[in-house]
Amino acid sequence: MEECIFCKIASGEIPSSKVYEDEHWFAFKDISPCAPVHILVIPKKHIRDIFELTPEKEGMMSDFFSTVRHIAMQEGLQEKGFRLVVNTGAAAGQTVFHFHAHIIGGRELGWPPFSE
Ligand code: AMP
Ligand code: ZN
Repeated sequence: MEECIFCKIASGEIPSSKVYEDEHWFAFKDISPCAPVHILVIPKKHIRDIFELTPEKEGMMSDFFSTVRHIAMQEGLQEKGFRLVVNTGAAAGQTVFHFHAHIIGGRELGWPPFSE
C-alpha cells in the first residue's frame, strides 16, 4: 500500500514518535492527542480493518494484547487504567484505513464515548 500513511510510519519513511516496536507491531504517539497518553498501535503489515483479519493473518494477532499490555505498563497506565479503541469503518470514525488501536489514558474518560 504505497499511499498508506501508516505503512509509511511503520517503515520509517514518515517520522513519528515511536514508543514501541517488535516483529509484527509498531506503536507511536497520536499526532492529535485526546488525552495525556494517546498511542496508536498498528501492524507493520497493511491490514485495512478488522474485516481484513483473515485467518492466515490472525496468527500475528495472538500477541496483540501482550503488546497492548506492555505499552500500557511502559506508559504507566496500570494503576489508573486506559481505554482501547478500534474504530472500524468510516461511520464509526475510522479515518486511516490501516488497522490501528488507540490506547487512551492519563485522564478521566467519560462513557459512552460518542456523540450524536
Ligand atoms: P481513526 O479516526 O480511528 O482512524 O484514527 C486515526 C488517528 O490517526 C487520529 O487520531 C489521528 O490524529 C492520527 N494520525 C493521523 N496522521 C497521523 C500521523 N502522521 N502521526 C500520528 N498520528 C496520526
Ligand atoms: Zn498501511
